[in-house]
Amino acid sequence: MSNPKYRIAICGGGVGGLTLAVALSRYQDIAVDVYEAAQSFCEIGAGVGVWPRAFRVLRKFGPDFEQQLLQRCGYDYTDEYVPTVRGRKSDQAVGIDLFDLMTKGKLMRLHRADFHGVLLSFLPPSCATHNAKRLISYTQPLEGSPKNSPITLTFTDESTATCDVLIGADGIKSTVRPCMLRELAEGLDPDEKESVLSCMSPIWSGVAAYRTLVSAEKLRARCPDHRTLREFTQYMGKDAYFLAYPVSLGQYVNFAGFTLERDVVDLAYKADTEIPRPSFKGKTNDEWVSELTAQQFVEPFKDFEEDAQHLLECVEKGTLWAVHTVKTLPSTNFRRVAIMGDAAHAMTPFQGSGAGQGIEDAYLLMTVLGHKSTTLETVPRALAIYDKLRRPFSSEVALRSMRGGQLCAFQEDVPLHELGDAITKNWEWAWLTDLDDALEEAVRLVEDSSIDVN
Ligand SMILES: Cc1cc2nc3c(=O)[nH]c(=O)nc-3n(C[C@H](O)[C@H](O)[C@H](O)COP(=O)(O)OP(=O)(O)OC[C@H]3O[C@@H](n4cnc5c(N)ncnc54)[C@H](O)[C@@H]3O)c2cc1C
Repeated sequence: MSNPKYRIAICGGGVGGLTLAVALSRYQDIAVDVYEAAQSFCEIGAGVGVWPRAFRVLRKFGPDFEQQLLQRCGYDYTDEYVPTVRGRKSDQAVGIDLFDLMTKGKLMRLHRADFHGVLLSFLPPSCATHNAKRLISYTQPLEGSPKNSPITLTFTDESTATCDVLIGADGIKSTVRPCMLRELAEGLDPDEKESVLSCMSPIWSGVAAYRTLVSAEKLRARCPDHRTLREFTQYMGKDAYFLAYPVSLGQYVNFAGFTLERDVVDLAYKADTEIPRPSFKGKTNDEWVSELTAQQFVEPFKDFEEDAQHLLECVEKGTLWAVHTVKTLPSTNFRRVAIMGDAAHAMTPFQGSGAGQGIEDAYLLMTVLGHKSTTLETVPRALAIYDKLRRPFSSEVALRSMRGGQLCAFQEDVPLHELGDAITKNWEWAWLTDLDDALEEAVRLVEDSSIDVN
């Protein structure tokens, strides 16, 4: 691209980073480089649900893009009210139905690799991708430097690159987040500084997640009409529950189970403090993730109803994740650097919304950075607008997600007959609201530079 208005580096090629790269590709005057730490772009073997609010954002990428996603889901989207999640009380010999969560619009259920594959296939050749590039630090030009001085990126292989704008989409263990918070903290008084720096590292949430894919064929052989072969079901119990739904055109049933350590969860969310976590060291290199045998995997759910047992008996192995989150940050941008997705707001998985929030971040970032009146000089303002409009919303979602988990694990004092309503009210933002108001406001703020956005 000759003479772009600026060069954006996206650090991290997960769902968030790739969505941003695809979104920005509509602008001919912006050059995009994606730097990914892994040798190749890939996703873990698990399912992901995209709620209507986030799916309506993805639809904006055009009918071809939507069609590709729908083909992977194996069903059409609708904006009608539909039953989406069946909730059961399952920690007893005979389970009972508690509610049918009705959502306006369908939950789109995908295999992560399929979703990732669609995003990759929509990256235009003009978007340069670089694998095996793990960022270790960046340097922004000092205040007062010539306006077009670049940001320098340094990678673990000792190579460097430059860009005008850096977006950290590098997940919960982000490198960009601590670098950016250190910049933000400079010059603050000691208390404020400590508070900002306390957000650099992720904290354990008190939640352990059990993840696997179950072969639908195996389940069908055991129980031909098992409900999880066709519907999203939550098997709920005291302090532990799991959900299961079909993905990959019915080839697999995605399984995500959770245990919630009540005291830790309360502390982590109410006091927003750092909690020492028990050792999750496992067989993998990543100390947050352990591989489990089938027997270890099903342990927290061993007293669940028979229907749940049919599914659990089909588990061959799985992984245990110590779910970490990021504290509510004081900011998600500093001058020409911003963070998005899990780097900015890693949350608990109880509302299946982390990836959706990253998709929203990406679209809003595209809106402010791609706007014709945004120039290299006004990039900091554009990123401040992104922060102003996205950070309060994603923080609220993180809180709702945690509360959702506590409701589903019977940790809130809500009578069983009111649980469905409580869960619905807490979750309905995901299908009753849209990003559009924030997008309109973003454009208004970009166009009227007299409005203070800080
Ligand atoms: C059990 C569970 C279930 C979930 N279910 C759902 C769901 O149904 N729906 C939903 O919306 N969300 C769900 N989520 C949340 C969702 O998985 C995350 O929010 C989402 O994947 C985050 O995307 P991301 O692109 O921000 O980060 P990531 O997917 O973590 O991607 C970050 C990328 O950056 C790369 N990277 C890291 N560090 C560097 C570096 N220094 N330099 C260069 N590259 C780097 C990584 O290799 C990776 O490719 C779930 C989470 C869990 C734990």
